[in-house]
Amino acid sequence: MSAYLIHDAEAVMTGHLGAEARAGRVDIRVRDGVITEMGQDLPPHADDERLDARGCVVYPGWINTHHHLFQSLLKGIPGGINQPLSKWLGAVPQPRLERMTPELVRIAATVGLAELLLSGTTTCADHHYVYAPGIGAEGTAALFEVAEELGVRLVVCRGAATLVPGPNDFPQSMKPETVGGVIREVETLSTRYHQRGPRPLRQVVMAPTTPTFSVRPADLRPLAEAARAMGLRLHTHLSETKDYVTHCRERHNCTPVEFCARHDWLGPDVWFAHMVHATDEELRLMAQTGTGVSHCPQSNCRLGSGMARVPNMAAAGIPISLGVDGAAGNEAADMIQEVHMAWLLHRALGGPDATKVEDVIHWATAGGAQVLGFEGVGVLAPGMAADLAVYDLGQPRYFGLHDPAVAPVVAGGSAKVRHLLMDGTPRVVNGTIPGLDLDRLQALAAEAVTRLH
Ligand SMILES: [Zn+2]
Repeated sequence: MSAYLIHDAEAVMTGHLGAEARAGRVDIRVRDGVITEMGQDLPPHADDERLDARGCVVYPGWINTHHHLFQSLLKGIPGGINQPLSKWLGAVPQPRLERMTPELVRIAATVGLAELLLSGTTTCADHHYVYAPGIGAEGTAALFEVAEELGVRLVVCRGAATLVPGPNDFPQSMKPETVGGVIREVETLSTRYHQRGPRPLRQVVMAPTTPTFSVRPADLRPLAEAARAMGLRLHTHLSETKDYVTHCRERHNCTPVEFCARHDWLGPDVWFAHMVHATDEELRLMAQTGTGVSHCPQSNCRLGSGMARVPNMAAAGIPISLGVDGAAGNEAADMIQEVHMAWLLHRALGGPDATKVEDVIHWATAGGAQVLGFEGVGVLAPGMAADLAVYDLGQPRYFGLHDPAVAPVVAGGSAKVRHLLMDGTPRVVNGTIPGLDLDRLQALAAEAVTRLH
């Protein structure tokens, strides 16, 4: 039994849109992982532990819907720093996949999840495609172990490839597997880790690395059917660069989203990372089918891929979420920075009302829960998971603000998390992760960099 009363916050943002986005100066009572009450001046119960939120604002924990945690040891590699996606893949992750070990995955996941936690994140969907000879199930196990130790809801999107690319094809770094082999691996992971219910701590998703370059077209439908038969969702990269569009037009005489539609890869149980290059007709198809998107603006900037038309997607009714993407192609895995970037970029492109603070908070919380299918997570309301971040506004970047509720989003930068609860358990206290030795982690990461150089 755990019980907390978060009291005297300056403001609470719920993750909802519209009039419900701002809950005002309310206290929040938490019991056994769930919010039980929100209201002004709640009296403490005898067994409530009081968490002081004076001078703070409270948001739902961020939900990061696209990451590659193993890349947390591959940041800023000089050979890829000024390259587009295709060349960057060949220069940065591809030559290092076979050098990854379960131990390195563990260090990388600790680095990545620690950065996420310290920026207020409580859920991470990791698109994991480190399935080279010598590393397989142990790498996936390391991800789940680290997530459990640190206290993050983790969705492992099991990457896969079934073909060997030709010399002129888009580069792929994965060991090719058979369709049956991939399905068996996903079944094993599902049996071992996948939790059902409204606020799961661990899930598994079927996630060929791309539908266009990593698998044969005929393999897509059986992978989707097998996942749906197991009650698992589908995820993949799509239209991150123009290469996807050119490939589908030349090989299949259609757009990438039409190509996915032909192979049963659209629906409310599917979300695509990126969607930078998309026609209006593709957006209509995604909206009609309830297919979601993980918008990764910092990665798209870093790799020069372009910018997804996210305000148009939202207007069309497409479920929108945010992702930091792998840290080898976005040297920050900080969700505050990602949300700040999403808020700014679309205003540069579409004017000062293109994105509102409430919109980007919604995308990075409730929107993420929607694409992951987590019905009991993502907004602050009674009955929902107690996944929440209490941001301390006691630093100069926030001094002078007239509307403290918007502070973490509009001021960007490094937030100080006074309290972070995941499923009602404190996971960050005064900007530190209890039990995590950061000096030791820094030394392990530095040693890993020499091994992966
Ligand atoms: Zn990615």
